[in-house]
Amino acid sequence: MSKYMPPAINASAFSCPHCGAYARQEWFYGYIKEGNENNKVFFWDEKEQKSWLKRARDRESRGESIDFYKDFIELNQKYFSGGLFYDESDQGKMSRRLENLYISRCTSEDCRKFTVWVYDKIVYPVQFTSSIEPPNPDMPDEVKRFYEEACLVVRDSPRAAAALLRLCVDILCDHLKAKGNDLNAKIGYLFENGLDKRVQESFDIVRLHGNGAVHEPGTIILEDSPDTAFKLFRIVNYIVDRIISNDKHIETMKFSLPERDQRKIERDNGKSN
Ligand SMILES: [Zn+2]
Repeated sequence: MSKYMPPAINASAFSCPHCGAYARQEWFYGYIKEGNENNKVFFWDEKEQKSWLKRARDRESRGESIDFYKDFIELNQKYFSGGLFYDESDQGKMSRRLENLYISRCTSEDCRKFTVWVYDKIVYPVQFTSSIEPPNPDMPDEVKRFYEEACLVVRDSPRAAAALLRLCVDILCDHLKAKGNDLNAKIGYLFENGLDKRVQESFDIVRLHGNGAVHEPGTIILEDSPDTAFKLFRIVNYIVDRIISNDKHIETMKFSLPERDQRKIERDNGKSN
C-alpha cells in the first residue's frame, strides 16, 4: 500500500479518493452548456433504456450479431454507474466556465476517474468519515451507487440508509444469479447452493434492518441509532469481500500456477460435482 497523502486543491499528486493509489493528478475547469430548446437536459433514464438492452439481449440469445449495440451497451453501463465521464462523440460547443468548480483526474492507468471540487472541497466522490468505511474497491458500480447514497443520508435518516443498503445486498444477490421472487427467497437460494453460513447471516441482518421490520419491543430502532446503521455499511463491505474479493484472490492465485496445475484444479472440481 502506498503512503496516504490527503487530496488538496491544485496538488500535483495525492491519494486518489477513488482508487486510493498515490497518483499524479491532472486538473481541469468545468464548463456549462445550455440544455435543449425546452430548457431540459438529456437525462439517461435507466427505465427507458431497458427496452434497448432487452432487444440486444434477445438478438444475442437468438445467436444474432449484436455488434451494432455493443458501443451503446457500453455507454449505457457508464451512465448507470453514476460516475463522471465524457462522451468522445460530443463535439458540442462549450459555453461558460463555472467559477469555483474544479475537476481533477487520477492518472493511474486502471482508474482515470474524476474528482469534483467546489472551491477547495471535494463534492464527488462521496467522502467517507471514520464512522463509515469506504466501499470495498471490488464493489460493483451499480451497488456502489446506492452505498454512497446511503452514506449521504445516514445522519438524517438511518432508516433510509438501511433501506438503501438492503437494495445493495439485493443487487449483490442478482450478481450471484440468485433465483427467487424476493430478497428472502434469493438468500435462501444462495444458502441452499453453498453460500457460507456467516455470509448468509450477514445478508439476513441487512435484509431485516432494511425493511423496517425490526421494530418489536426490545429491538433496536434505527432512527434512534445511527451507530447501528454505520455497522450495516461494514456488513455490506464484508459481504462484498467474501463473495467477490475472496473469489478474485483465488482466481489470481490459480492463474499464477502453471497451466497444467490449473487444469488439474478444474478436473478435480469436475470430479467432486
Ligand atoms: Zn484513482
